[in-house]
Amino acid sequence: MDHPARLDALRLRLAAERVECLLVTSLPNIFYLSGFTGSAGVLLVDEGRSILFTDGRYALQAAEEVHGSRVVILRSGALKAAARRLGRYRCAGFEASADCRTWRQLREQAGACRLRLLENVVEQLRLVKDDDELERIRRSVALNSRAFQQTVKRIRPGLREVEVAAELEYHMRLLGAERPAFETVVAGGPRSAMPHARASARRLGENEVVVLDHGAILSNYASDMTRTVHLGAASRRARALFRVVLEAQQRAVAAVRAGAACSAVDRAAREYISRRGLGRYFTHSTGHGLGIEVHEIPRLARRDKTRLPAGAVITIEPGIYIPGMGGFRIEDVVVVRERGAEVLTTTPRALLEF
Ligand code: ZN
Ligand code: ZN
Repeated sequence: MDHPARLDALRLRLAAERVECLLVTSLPNIFYLSGFTGSAGVLLVDEGRSILFTDGRYALQAAEEVHGSRVVILRSGALKAAARRLGRYRCAGFEASADCRTWRQLREQAGACRLRLLENVVEQLRLVKDDDELERIRRSVALNSRAFQQTVKRIRPGLREVEVAAELEYHMRLLGAERPAFETVVAGGPRSAMPHARASARRLGENEVVVLDHGAILSNYASDMTRTVHLGAASRRARALFRVVLEAQQRAVAAVRAGAACSAVDRAAREYISRRGLGRYFTHSTGHGLGIEVHEIPRLARRDKTRLPAGAVITIEPGIYIPGMGGFRIEDVVVVRERGAEVLTTTPRALLEF
């Protein structure tokens, strides 16, 4: 990972924003810019330098991981020490994701320095992935697909949702993942009508739909995939609903290319579902960016006019949720290319019936 190049790209943005430095408090952003994966630290980037402030617990780790930034180890109060330095500048940027306590600390320590809130300045840099990042995401997606394949063959009525989730996460770990990227969704029967249902203690029944949505973190990069399976033979209605989601998903994938607006990709899925009279059951956006975090910019939503750049990585995941009956969703990870989408998720999409 070319951290000096990333820092230089950030400096250009800071100059355009007319701030002399940026205090980076978001951990994913600190990792992106410096390589540091610890859970406590602050990065201060100005025109000439980049300094990571952290504490003694991370001395060894920071020495190993950090490239392109100087490391300052403190007994305590990394934020306070970084904030005190802001007194040297006339105008400093801080990140919109900082909480109120952080802001108060900055205000107290920064003296006469003007503080400016900057939104998504590092996140914008993270939008386009370099080759090394794409390779990490590719491997994370492949691992996640393997965990699905190893789990799904054992799924049967009587198992509790949490047991299926545990198995998915166990396989992720055995295959080398650092951790799940988010709380694994395993939702059977009527619970599948909740798009973000966490796995519960409910036992899977005969003849019901099950939505599995899971992701892994491998080499610090996320994957995210949803498949819908059916225990027992699916009814004609369930199959028809599934086919609508699959067709909508494929249409959205086909709409992806560099320069396409996020809203246009969303529309490709949403219009198809709406024309089938099911629009009100598609209650979320079509997808999101993915990388160091499972949810990054952009959002593939109705009103997001962002144009997709080549090299962005996004998910495509339309769904239909019928209260009382169940939900259907299919989610793949794709890379935006000049001429279309490169689909990274290779797991078959057809409705599996057991
Ligand atoms: Zn997902
Ligand atoms: Zn997702």
